[in-house]
Amino acid sequence: MPEELPDPDSIHYWDGVSNSELRYQLCNGCKSSIFYPRSICPACGSSDICWKVSSGLGKIYACTTVYRAPPKYKDKVPYIVALIDLDEDYRMMSEIINFGEKDVSVGKQVKVIFRDDIDGKLMPYFTPID
Ligand SMILES: [Zn+2]
Repeated sequence: MPEELPDPDSIHYWDGVSNSELRYQLCNGCKSSIFYPRSICPACGSSDICWKVSSGLGKIYACTTVYRAPPKYKDKVPYIVALIDLDEDYRMMSEIINFGEKDVSVGKQVKVIFRDDIDGKLMPYFTPID
């Protein structure tokens, strides 16, 4: 997965992840959900932004199977990367794991689960739900 280093805008997001909590931002001006974290609302330009905790529930918007990974992840292939539309109306990219025999396709309902990544850092992943 692409690595995002904490910065002043994302520190609350990463604090959440380290507590198995998926956080996103909500603009108090236009009520848009915001992800990835930033200090200015991309929809209306307001800096009046607050943090919310996501249900971690959503649907797959798009997904692809990775067969050729960066060297660091070469032992993981194949793996599935997806864009997920969360119920709170924001979109994020993550990996789909623990799907077993379940179908992984556009529109599939998923929920967040937190697992250690290859570096032992807790990260959000998603798994299909029925
Ligand atoms: Zn706004």
